[in-house]
Parts: sequence; C-alpha cells; structure tokens
Amino acid sequence: MKGFGAIAPNNVGWMEKDRPVCGPMDAIIRPLAVAPCSSDTHASHGGSGPLDHVILGHEAVGEVVEVGNLVKNFKPGDVVVVPCCTPDWTEKNMQQRGANNAHDAGLMKSFKLLGSWDGVFAEFFKINQADANLVLKPENVSIESALMTVDMMSTGFYGVEMADVQFGETVVVFGIGPVGLMAVAGTALRGAGRIFATGSRPNCVELAKEYGATDIINYKNGDVVEQILALNGGQVDRVIIAGGDCSTMTQALCLVKPNGTIASINFYDATDSFAYPAYLWGLGMSDVTIKGGFCPGGAYRIEKLLNLIANKRIDPSKLLNYKFEGFEKIEDAFKVMDEKPRDLIKPIVYINWD
Ligand code: NDP
Ligand code: ZN
Repeated sequence: MKGFGAIAPNNVGWMEKDRPVCGPMDAIIRPLAVAPCSSDTHASHGGSGPLDHVILGHEAVGEVVEVGNLVKNFKPGDVVVVPCCTPDWTEKNMQQRGANNAHDAGLMKSFKLLGSWDGVFAEFFKINQADANLVLKPENVSIESALMTVDMMSTGFYGVEMADVQFGETVVVFGIGPVGLMAVAGTALRGAGRIFATGSRPNCVELAKEYGATDIINYKNGDVVEQILALNGGQVDRVIIAGGDCSTMTQALCLVKPNGTIASINFYDATDSFAYPAYLWGLGMSDVTIKGGFCPGGAYRIEKLLNLIANKRIDPSKLLNYKFEGFEKIEDAFKVMDEKPRDLIKPIVYINWD
C-alpha cells in the first residue's frame, strides 16, 4: 500500500509499505478525512526521535474495512472516529487513579500512530483494541467536527482540565493556533470570567474572540506579562500554555497567583531547558501547581467530546480553513502545515475511494 511520511529527518515523501495485519482485537481502517498536525511536522524534522520510513498522520475519520474475530462493536463499512491516542487498556498503568490514558506502558506510549506503527496518511491503517478505542461517527456530527475531536479538541480541553478552570476565574491561554483555540473554547465552556489569549495571526485572533477570548494579547507588541498585568490589575488564576517555548513557562509563573495552576499542552524542543528563578515559584511555597500533559484518547473520551458537538455546545469545524480533496493531496496539506502561511489555522484532506 501507499503512504506519506518521513523517509528520514527533514525528508518527507510517498513510500510503499505492507498493508497492516489485523490482530484479533484490531480494526483495519481506510481514511475518509485526515488532518496534518504540528506534531507530524515536528516529528518530520526529527523533533520526536529517529525516523526511517515512517508513515505519518494521527488525525482521522475512516471506514472500517476489516475487524479481528474478537471485535464486537464494529464491522466493515462502519464510519469511525479514531482517537490519536489508542491505549492498550490491559496495561497496569491504566489502573492508576486519575491516570491520563496517553501513557499506557510509559511516556506517550498510547500514541501508537506515531511511535508504535504507521500512521493514518496511508491507504490502510491499524487500530489496536478497536472496541475500546474507536467511536462510531454520530449522524448529527459532521466529518469535519468529528475529525477535530481526536487531537485538537482532546488536547485543548485537556489543558483546561489540567488547569482546573472554575466559574468566574481569569485565565491566560498562551497560543491561539488550533490547540490554543480549543483551549479557549473549553475555558469558556468551563465558565471562566475573563480569558486572555496570546497570538498575532488575524484569522486566529477572530476565531479566538468567537470561541470566548475577552482580551487578545499580541506577543509581538511588547512583553506579554506586562500587558496582561496592566490590563488585569494583577495576577490571574490559571494559565494554559499552547504556544511559545521554555521561556513561556517563566512568563506563566509571573502571571499566576498563589494557589493557581499552570497547565502546559505545548511541545518543547528536546534541546531546550526550563530555567526560572526560585522566587517566581514563591521560593517553592506558592502552592502554584505546574502540570504538563499529552492528548488523552480512547472511545470514552472521544464520545464525550462528540456529545458536546452533537448538542451544539461547540463547533470545532471552524478551525478547518484549508481544504484539499484526494488521497494524493495529503502531501500538499502536509507542506502547508509545515510552512504555516499566516492565514492557515488547520488543513483537512477529504478522501474518496470510489
Ligand atoms: P500553532 O503553531 O498553530 O500555534 C502556536 C500559537 O502560539 C500561535 O497562536 C502563536 O501566535 C502563539 N505563540 C507563538 N510564540 C508565542 C510567544 N512567544 N508568546 C505567546 N504566544 C506565542 O500550534 P498548534 O496550535 O498546532 O499547537 C500548539 C502546541 O501544541 C504545539 O507545541 C504542538 O506541537 C502542541 N501539541 C501538543 C499536543 C499534546 O498532546 N500535548 C497535541 C497536539 C499539538 P501567532 O498567531 O503569532 O502564530
Ligand atoms: Zn497531533
């Protein structure tokens, strides 16, 4: 079969691979819509480790073409929403109270589509433990919105959950790319009072306001901390980081009150380090919680996110402003994601196999 991915670091292209083999609890799926992610482009440059002919892609809605003999809930022809993390639910770590299911056998090990085997930019891809990991696409949820649950919404909302946003609170969201935009929308759904969001791209700024940001801070127009402290008249309750670099953590520590929370869903470069003075963390006594986490997956979570869309609490399809048609257009969509023209929010590729 054909697939698109990383041949070597900084070298992407099409490749021929064997069609994946379906285990007793697995499903083999054909993609119907896929979206490239910042993590795919990051990985293609070697940012997530060694690469040798790896098919990329981990955001998909697809059609089941084959199921293993132990699969009960799905059959060929079903249209399914595919979480980007598909845990092995038999791993003991899954039993830890409050565990994020992204880390089944260890750090981000549930991210099987980028790490364990080939991804979704392929004619066929495999999903483990289909009954626990796949969700039938609800009739009243569009393919675009369904596609945005699997990573963008799950990650952005996880930032909000980690930050533990409460009614009426003041929250800063660093970054209004597709992940940060979903964090803004989730923060608004959680009932925050004031939401500061940082970014500069006009399309993203407009959408951030639509999703509930009350104040947009352009980090290119001066120090973010000074701008927010001045407008807010002091520190904020929670900070969610979905953009920036290691120095953003220092800014977050300047911004958050004692007892507050900093929740990061950002990827940091492997060669970068966090360095902040002890006084910013109250000499270790500020009761400020710092968390960083990865996109949770599994059927239960994605079902909850789809339920928000089905009941019109949120429309994540607004993120998709670059549209491509045809399997071979995955290459163009990937390049757009890598080059990030200023008007891009998120690309989608529709695939028709007829
Ligand atoms: P984008 O690059 O589209 O967005 C980044 C945002 O951060 C933009 O709004 C950008 O502003 C803003 N920004 C950049 N630099 C700064 C700065 N110094 N201060 C304040 N704001 C800044 O990324 P995505 O939304 O696609 O992804 C966000 C992050 O989440 C990435 O690191 C990505 O790899 C990661 N990610 C993490 C996942 C997880 O599970 N934890 C899953 C998926 C993605 P501007 O408008 O100027 O561009
Ligand atoms: Zn991703």
